[in-house]
Amino acid sequence: MPTLVAEESQITNIFSASGFKGKKLVTTLSSEATISDIIQSIIKTKPSEIDSPFSVLDLRVVIDLMNKWTMNLPTVKPFYAVKCNPNISLLGALASLGANFDCASPVEIESVLSLGVSPDRIIYANPCKSESHIKYAASVGVNVTTFDSVGEVEKIKMWHPNCELVLRIKPEEDSGARFSLGLKFGALRNEVPELLKAADDAGLKVTGVSFHIGSAGASTQAYRGAILLAKTVFETASNLGMPKMKILNIGGGFTPGSKFDEASLNINEAIKSYFENEEDLVVIGEPGTYFAETAFTLATKVIGKRVRDELREYWIDDGIYGTLSTVVYDYFIVTCSTLRFGSKPDEVTYKDTKTYPSTVFGPTCDSTDTVLKEYSLPELEMNDWLVFSNMGAYTSSLGTNFNGFSSSAKNVYIACSSLSYGAENKS
Ligand SMILES: *Cc1c(COP(=O)(O)O)cnc(C)c1O
Repeated sequence: MPTLVAEESQITNIFSASGFKGKKLVTTLSSEATISDIIQSIIKTKPSEIDSPFSVLDLRVVIDLMNKWTMNLPTVKPFYAVKCNPNISLLGALASLGANFDCASPVEIESVLSLGVSPDRIIYANPCKSESHIKYAASVGVNVTTFDSVGEVEKIKMWHPNCELVLRIKPEEDSGARFSLGLKFGALRNEVPELLKAADDAGLKVTGVSFHIGSAGASTQAYRGAILLAKTVFETASNLGMPKMKILNIGGGFTPGSKFDEASLNINEAIKSYFENEEDLVVIGEPGTYFAETAFTLATKVIGKRVRDELREYWIDDGIYGTLSTVVYDYFIVTCSTLRFGSKPDEVTYKDTKTYPSTVFGPTCDSTDTVLKEYSLPELEMNDWLVFSNMGAYTSSLGTNFNGFSSSAKNVYIACSSLSYGAENKS
């Protein structure tokens, strides 16, 4: 594999972003380490100091995803949806790769500003904000927000009259997403004229339209219908004699992998068909899952075991009240591997090929806290590790302190694996 000189300076830059203060990169670039190698080396170097559970953020994945985004959607500016995973190092990496941010609360805004990101790189994309939160946005210079009700217009007029508004609309087709956001957010087509007029009468500027087709498993075809609907809102505003709109915000719903190519195709075509004549159009997206999901890997320790005939039951130290809430949804494909450290320093084995139907419990005293059922695993022992891939989206951000157990969120290592489609392209 070639040495990645350009990549090296890029990673150093990312690394010196303020989000990394006091942190250490756990691998060097010259190694040809996979994320599994990296996890093994973390555990092996200082086993007694390794708090379990922990997660590893792989910067390589973030860089590759940003390259892929730029390649597929060159005209769409990404605003990372912080709620998906607010890990400060991920935010720092994205900031230094040029991403902007979608925040939904003052705490999220503060995290992003703490990295030295300018407030004009933030959209306050929560259509319903409390008055004190609107005042906070005004005080720090976050000047673009979404709305979908007359009540919100009144609050913004009162507390942040210079704020630009983006009208959140509800897509009309069911995208088949597991997490539809349309039940809670988005103006209906027939509500649009009244909302635009309310904002205009209040002396507020409506500069664009946003939507969200829904997270996880949404059909990428849904972007087309929603972009067309957004176009009709641009036309309504113009028919009402309001100033020309310029922002088309296509929201989230992106997943990494081949589905992203399909989504990109639909989006690029729809923008071309419906917005061809909009000269000053600014298109933005709010990817959350896309950047976070595959960037984090979770390592948990086996802390208990019970044998009932063929069935093996294990307890691990993270669970559905911590990082692992998503594994209970049937859309989430669990990818989990096992690690055992032998008495010799280099011994990491799983030679057993025999597997058993296994149940894996989380650590809390609630039987719902069950991570895997009828899952085929080799015989595990106490202090073995279970490693879960793709654990970055809506994982640690949903963690609770239930029963006094914390999740992996406080214990994140930053690494850079050598696996890179970008590297292949360059060589
Ligand atoms: C949650 C959310 C997102 C991110 O959605 P993903 O499907 O994870 O990409 C983007 N925009 C808004 C307004 C959201 O609420």
